[in-house]
Amino acid sequence: MGFAAAATDSTTSPPRPGTDTETETDTVVQLPGIEVPSRPAHLSPSGASLYQQCPRRWKHRYVDRLPDPPGVAALAGTFAHRVLELLLQEPDQRRTVERAKELARVAWPEIATDDDFVALGLDETELREFRWRGWLAVEGLWAIEDPCTVSVDATEHDVQVLVGDVPFRGVVDRIDLTDDGRVITDYKSGRAPAERFAAGRLTQVMLYAAAVAATTGERPIRARLLYLGQKIVEIDVTDENLESAVGELEATWSSLTADCDRGVFEATTGPLCGWCPYVDRCPEGRAEVNERVDSGRLRLDAPAIELIARSA
Ligand code: SF4
Repeated sequence: MGFAAAATDSTTSPPRPGTDTETETDTVVQLPGIEVPSRPAHLSPSGASLYQQCPRRWKHRYVDRLPDPPGVAALAGTFAHRVLELLLQEPDQRRTVERAKELARVAWPEIATDDDFVALGLDETELREFRWRGWLAVEGLWAIEDPCTVSVDATEHDVQVLVGDVPFRGVVDRIDLTDDGRVITDYKSGRAPAERFAAGRLTQVMLYAAAVAATTGERPIRARLLYLGQKIVEIDVTDENLESAVGELEATWSSLTADCDRGVFEATTGPLCGWCPYVDRCPEGRAEVNERVDSGRLRLDAPAIELIARSA
């Protein structure tokens, strides 16, 4: 049976590319009068990735629910995702560039009225650049595949299932059907990684493959990242690499739930502190950013520098 009937109603709220729809699902509920946060109900690939990057940052995002508003690039990606979602729901021969242009006009009011987008306060020129950026990502699909030839099983598929021993939740951009089995596809509007880093980027789609396998009882045959306008990064799904991705997820879940139980979340400092929205409340991150600035190891446009200056 296909996924189409079970897919979420995509006409209501457009999900953000690979992250933001999932992030809400990880939110921890803290009961009144209880200081130690309870465990999250689900873990998404983006939540797992954030925890692996820095447990403290994860805590601020999901336990304290502090805002981490998306920037221009992420929102342009959201717009492109929405247009491609609508396009791939069309009959295969209607998936043309012209049709995509019409659908971009349909999707535009959704993004234009989004609170995060409005908060960007773009002027006329910036608005034009934003639309152009989003459209280039949409048009970039034709540079890497012909959407008329794709047999779609589901788009924006919300999957909630136990993966290993982890309550998993994620939104899969697209599930394709081929003669040999299902293919998990995720769009990316950012820059494609260099060859040596490509394998590390596939964890998210491998987890989606594991979730789809757990739901359907059939292992997908391939997992792909479509870097729009650039290239496809893909991997054959095997029992071995599924096991490896699930093992990593279980280890993250085990560590994360232990932190929740203890109420202690370590800070993992590094170059990404320069882009952490919570640096102004993190002494270790502050020290890291200051040290990097002093030693010339941080770009001077890193947003953390201004955040620290404002909070001083
Ligand atoms: S500033 Fe750095 S160490 Fe602190 S929470 Fe953010 S990423 Fe983690």
